[in-house]
Amino acid sequence: MSGGARVLVLGAGVAGVASAYFLARQGHQVIMVDQASEPGAGTSHANGGQLSYSYTDAFAQPAMLKKLPGLLLGRDPSVVMSLSPSLIRWGLAFVSQCTAGRSGTNSRALLELALRSAELLGGINREAQLDYSHATAGKMVLLRTDAEVQGAQPGIDRKTAAGCEVRLLNRQQAEAIEPTLAAMPEPYTAAIYAPGDEVADAGKFCRELSEWLQTRGSLELKLGTRVDGLLRRNGRVTGAKLGSEELEADAVVVCLGGASASVVAPSDIPLPIYPVRGYSLTLPPGPRSPRVSLTDVKHKIVFSRLGDRVRIAGFTDFLGNSESRIRRRVADLTNTAWWLAPEAADYAQEDHQPWSGVRPMTPDSRPRVGATRTPGLFVNTGHGALGWTLACATGQDVARAVSMDT
Ligand SMILES: Cc1cc2nc3c(=O)[nH]c(=O)nc-3n(C[C@H](O)[C@H](O)[C@H](O)COP(=O)(O)OP(=O)(O)OC[C@H]3O[C@@H](n4cnc5c(N)ncnc54)[C@H](O)[C@@H]3O)c2cc1C
Repeated sequence: MSGGARVLVLGAGVAGVASAYFLARQGHQVIMVDQASEPGAGTSHANGGQLSYSYTDAFAQPAMLKKLPGLLLGRDPSVVMSLSPSLIRWGLAFVSQCTAGRSGTNSRALLELALRSAELLGGINREAQLDYSHATAGKMVLLRTDAEVQGAQPGIDRKTAAGCEVRLLNRQQAEAIEPTLAAMPEPYTAAIYAPGDEVADAGKFCRELSEWLQTRGSLELKLGTRVDGLLRRNGRVTGAKLGSEELEADAVVVCLGGASASVVAPSDIPLPIYPVRGYSLTLPPGPRSPRVSLTDVKHKIVFSRLGDRVRIAGFTDFLGNSESRIRRRVADLTNTAWWLAPEAADYAQEDHQPWSGVRPMTPDSRPRVGATRTPGLFVNTGHGALGWTLACATGQDVARAVSMDT
């Protein structure tokens, strides 16, 4: 592997910042560009905070086919859909991934990335000693029906075989570990428990790691700078257009999340990314705040303890880039979480730090990482609902691809 190339990283979310870290480690000169005034201001800003290393199954599963008619008919309040040609195209590709074979392959690939990410994040923690509310909180996924409980076992077996500590708990066992569950009014039957899963503030990580890299002279950061396109010469990408400025580089890594396809051409690499909107609140803890991070599959809501705050995130809205329903959906999320886990947070607080972002989802839930057909152009994008969990492994992968090509 060679180092010493001048590499432009476009986008300073978790994907971009992790790419910058591994590129810098490999001896490259890294310049990271973002239109926002600080790193981690996009979808990485206030996500669910879960490093769900053992809960990375692809969304496209055979069981999804049965759920689709109900979702299309609007019967699940945690999903809102507005059909459009781009959603129909994406949806058809998603359905093609809902076979047992493809969902198995996709889920295994995601698990490999997640477990490697866990190792790599541990390495960053030891080296950089950053403060981003990182904790090994463990994670519980709440199950309500017998079908969910039976359906969980093959996944638990696969993850155990891959080295994860994952087990099924009955209600009493779950409540003994996480007392806030006892205050939940809606009955659940069991919980999948992964004691080694972690939580951390992704936005803070982006800011802290960028600053650490800058302090060491390993990163030049250009904030408040919009990327308008790529520079191309003789069939090669040679840099990026930043307003009136043209910035030349030996390699360009696109990490623009949901906006990646606006600069990458389908002839470079197809990026079948659909923006799936979600929302979050960040509140002071309630009288029985969860220590373990919780995922409620039915309501599509997660609860994570991030330092002295509780992050509540959720919903899966297929509305393209429209922002018209954000206020209403944040109110829906607040009301649902308050009813679901009344003692988890201090919901009466006026400043509940409402936030919304779009998950850059691919039909197979797998990010697109590495070289493209166009020399000089690399991508690290399409992390969907798992960008924080997968960021370190994909950052390492794209840095390796750049090193092999420059
Ligand atoms: C509600 C919600 C909860 C989630 N919870 C979790 C979770 O618990 N665990 C987990 O692993 N994942 C979670 N995710 C997913 C995760 O947040 C994303 O996968 C991840 O943040 C994507 O990172 P990214 O770096 O690809 O994109 P982003 O963080 O969006 O970064 C892209 C950057 O590009 C910049 N940009 C865009 N266009 C331009 C342009 N033209 N010029 C310059 N800059 C530009 C943006 O400002 C942004 O900073 C959640 C997502 C949502 C919405």
